[in-house]
Amino acid sequence: MERISLRAPAKVNIRLDVLGKRPDGYHEIKTWIYPISLADELHIEKVNTTKIIISSAHPELPLGEENLAYRAAALFMKERGLSGGVKIEIIKRIPLAAGLGGGSSDAAAVLKGMNILWGANVPPDGLMEIGVKIGADVPFFILGKGAIMGGKGVRVVKFLPPLKAWMVLINPGLPLSTQQVYQQGKWGLTKEGGDNRILMPPQDLKKMGDFLHNDLEGPALELMPIIENIKGRLHEAGASGVLMTGSGPTVFGLFRSEAEARRATRDLKMEEEWICFVAHTLSDS
Ligand code: ATP
Repeated sequence: MERISLRAPAKVNIRLDVLGKRPDGYHEIKTWIYPISLADELHIEKVNTTKIIISSAHPELPLGEENLAYRAAALFMKERGLSGGVKIEIIKRIPLAAGLGGGSSDAAAVLKGMNILWGANVPPDGLMEIGVKIGADVPFFILGKGAIMGGKGVRVVKFLPPLKAWMVLINPGLPLSTQQVYQQGKWGLTKEGGDNRILMPPQDLKKMGDFLHNDLEGPALELMPIIENIKGRLHEAGASGVLMTGSGPTVFGLFRSEAEARRATRDLKMEEEWICFVAHTLSDS
């Protein structure tokens, strides 16, 4: 096989607890994540050069070494001692720096795709180990199903049961840097033993509102107050729960059916620069 096309889904964090700052400077978190149907599309092709070539029509996406897909390709070749080159076209649908994990998902798709194209047969655990070196969400996207992730966000604590939910996502059309949001928060050092609670989300969407929680929402709101307006609009449109995902600024509102979610998008008062998506949680791939 010389060419493969893969979807790289976005994610939503239905809960994110920051447990504290670690002595190494990273933050210890525990987060409940599901992949969703909003996705980038990647076309990956084996070529007879020694280059990694990334292309995309997206005007702001870096195409060189800063691209996480590039880094994934370079690392996969290095770790497996492979030769040759690869061409990767990214059809970018997930907004950048949005808390939706787009870059990490692209990187995970490249690792999975190259594993198939080169017949390397690296098991998921092995791909996750390579993924950790690229970005905190890459191991989650290698798994590709609902999970509670711990540590820096890279370790599976427990798998989550499949969740059937529709959602309306609103992005204010502005990026928010993950690093800046963590810096804005005031967190003490992690406590010995940490927080060992493993809360499981309710299956009934009506009860989900009380479960949704994100420790990064406060600091993100201080940096971008518009997030509060977006939350208000989604509540007004009838969402059964509303939360900012990851380090933001994208906010999602949960709905029981596609019809309800689509109706909400018609009722919603949107500002001109806001971007809106309707999506659903993905079942196990
Ligand atoms: P996370 O939730 O993992 O913090 P995010 O959704 O907030 O991620 P990304 O979309 O992954 O953020 O991108 C953050 C930055 O990474 C962008 O500003 C972009 O310049 C850079 N980047 C590098 N490669 C990619 C890629 N393939 N897709 C998107 N962004 C990328």
